[in-house]
Formats: sequence, structure tokens, C-alpha cells
Amino acid sequence: MTVNRTPPPPLNPPERLLMGPGPSNPDPRVLTAMGMNPIGHLDPYFVELMDQTMGALRGVFQTTNHHTLPISATGSAGLEAIMANLLESGDSCVVAVNGYFGLRLAELARRAGADVRTVEAAPGDTVDPAAIEALLVERPAKVLAFVHAETTTGACQSIPEMVSVARRHDALVVVDCVTTLGGVPLDVDAMGIDAAGSCSQKCLGAPAGLGPITVGPRAMEAVRARKQPPATWYLDFGLLFQYWGEPGGSPKRAFHHTAPIAAIYGFHEALRLILEEGLDARWARHQAAHEVLVRGLDVLGLSLFTPPAHRCSTINVIRTPDGIDEASVRARLLTMGVEMGGGLGVLAGKVWRVGVMGHNAQTARIEQFLGALDAALRAEGYSA
Ligand SMILES: *Cc1c(COP(=O)(O)O)cnc(C)c1O
Repeated sequence: MTVNRTPPPPLNPPERLLMGPGPSNPDPRVLTAMGMNPIGHLDPYFVELMDQTMGALRGVFQTTNHHTLPISATGSAGLEAIMANLLESGDSCVVAVNGYFGLRLAELARRAGADVRTVEAAPGDTVDPAAIEALLVERPAKVLAFVHAETTTGACQSIPEMVSVARRHDALVVVDCVTTLGGVPLDVDAMGIDAAGSCSQKCLGAPAGLGPITVGPRAMEAVRARKQPPATWYLDFGLLFQYWGEPGGSPKRAFHHTAPIAAIYGFHEALRLILEEGLDARWARHQAAHEVLVRGLDVLGLSLFTPPAHRCSTINVIRTPDGIDEASVRARLLTMGVEMGGGLGVLAGKVWRVGVMGHNAQTARIEQFLGALDAALRAEGYSA
């Protein structure tokens, strides 16, 4: 085969309303920020920007944890960093599993060398804290990990009960808040969460590429007490914070990797937008947009898969009506410039997943989505 040296055609990305389970459309201010002057990753202005970004991210996580930063990779890498630094060979970890992302947390813990026990719940349900407690009574665990809102089923796990169980048995609490941070109430310090990881592209409203995490003092103590350094070099907290800065540490930053400057510019602007809006107003906006969506779905004769008791405003899992091919509807919707998600795992072919996230959590955008969905469904022969 000969090497093809012809340049590809120029970029021409279509305009999309991104209503899937992430990414969401960033505010235009975020995209503008990403095109600003590039500088070096050790430039004094960039170091100042790193401090500002950490500070703003603490505000969004509602924490005083110094160790709060965006990992230079997507949400999964942030969660992997937490598991790989908190856990080592011989440690025990309990993971609540009610969908694909719970399974993934368990796999991250296993790969960190931990002995993993899971407590499962059916799709759409949340995990029973009493079942978690039963396992911890049997044998303690260093870490209890769970997903705040399981993006495959829309089920939102209530955090306080899980934290109480963990505290009674001296386990560290790790939360995957990838679909919730910036969209629904989450208060890391008041809730007693030891470590949490999210992503840039869902409710925080920036493009994909960063994995914001926060790690509290109890968790950092466990990291410092490790017998062996973590197997990962790129995600090693010890090395990462020589670059991002330890509290009271040297103002001189040690090179670790080249931070993705443009991504940090966009993320910084996204955090600024969140704190300008105010967290309470932002959560209320997500809730109001979710209610507009649910009322509109009802008019179309569609219903949500997730039981009302643990629905989450940011991730809406809709039952595909009988006799309708879910993939054809999604394909039609995309021709109208609107993206939504399909089902994953056991829900594949049975549901659609619609995100109400960040800049898209506004009535006009939800109505645009509903109008397109209505048209796509009619074209597929559906009538309510
Ligand atoms: C989207 C998502 C992830 C993965 O995040 P990436 O940024 O795609 O790596 C992990 N957990 C949950 C709950 C998610 O919704």
C-alpha cells in the first residue's frame, strides 16, 4: 500500500444542538477563550491562571480542598487518577453498581490492585446503603465508591446515606459526579465526600478534554501513606501537584507535562460563567429546563424510564415507544442538527438519553429539541 500524502478536505463541522448525555454545547464565551493567545505551560501568567482555575473549581465543588484541579484528560482519567492514587495492592474497595459507570469504577479499582466487592442494583434503581453496610460489617474497606447519577439509567444516588455508612466503617468516600457537577446540588465539604471526579463537557459547559477532581485531607493522608508509588506516572498525585502546586509549597513549579493551554482557557471561562451565575441559580435553571422537557415529553406521549423518586434533572432516560426504531429516530434527528443519545448495555435499543446540561439547560433549547423530536417521531410513523 502506498502512503497517501494528499491533504484531507478542510474542516467543516456541522452545527449541532448537543442534547445527548454529553458533550453539551459550550457558551460562546468559552469557545472564544479557547482561541486566545497561546503561552507556555510554565509562563508566570499561566501559573497564575492555574491557581485561579483551582480556586474557581473549589468554588464549584464547594470545597476548601487544596488538591482540586483539572486532570489533563477526560473525566474517566480523573476518576482513574483518584482510584490509582487512593488504592494499592491489598486494599479493599466496595463499589455500588447500578449501571455501566458503576462497573467502570469497579474496574478502575481492580486495575489499581484493590480487592473489589460490589453491591448491585437493577437498572433505574439506586443501591441500598444497608446492603453496602452489610459488606462493610463483614470486612472493612479503604474506599467506598459510587456514581452520583448513573448516566446509563438516569438514577441519582442520594449521597448523605452513603457517606454515613462509609463514616461508620472508616471508609473513604469516592464519588463519580461526572453527570451532576454544575447541574444539581453537590457540596463536597458539607456532604463529607473525600474525593470526587467530574468532566468538562457535561454540566460544566466546556468542550471535552479535562477531568476536574477534588481530593480531601483524609484521602491525601491515605495517598501519602502508600507503601508503593502508584503504577501510573501521568496521574501520580505526588508528581502532578509538584506542577500544580502544594499548599505552602515552592512557588516554582516543576515540569510534569505540557498542560493543554487552550483547554484550560476554555475551562477557566466556563468556571467563571458558573460562579457569575451562582450555583443555586444554575441548579434551579437545570431543574426548570428538566421540567419543561418532562412536560413536553408528556405531550408527545413519551415517559421517562427512571422512577420519579430518584430522577436527575441533567440526564433524562426516555422509553422508546413500542414499534418505533430508536436508532432511526436518532438518525433523523441528527439530519435536523440535533443529537441525542441511545441506550447503553441492557437498555440498548430501548431508550433515548437526553442531557439537560450547562448552556443547553434553557427553555428555548429544550423547546427546539422537543420540536425536532416531534417531527422525527412523526416521520417514523409515530402518533401519540
Ligand atoms: C460521561 C461519564 C463518564 C466518562 O467521562 P469522560 O469525560 O467521557 O471520560 C464517567 N462517568 C459518568 C457517570 C459519566 O456520565
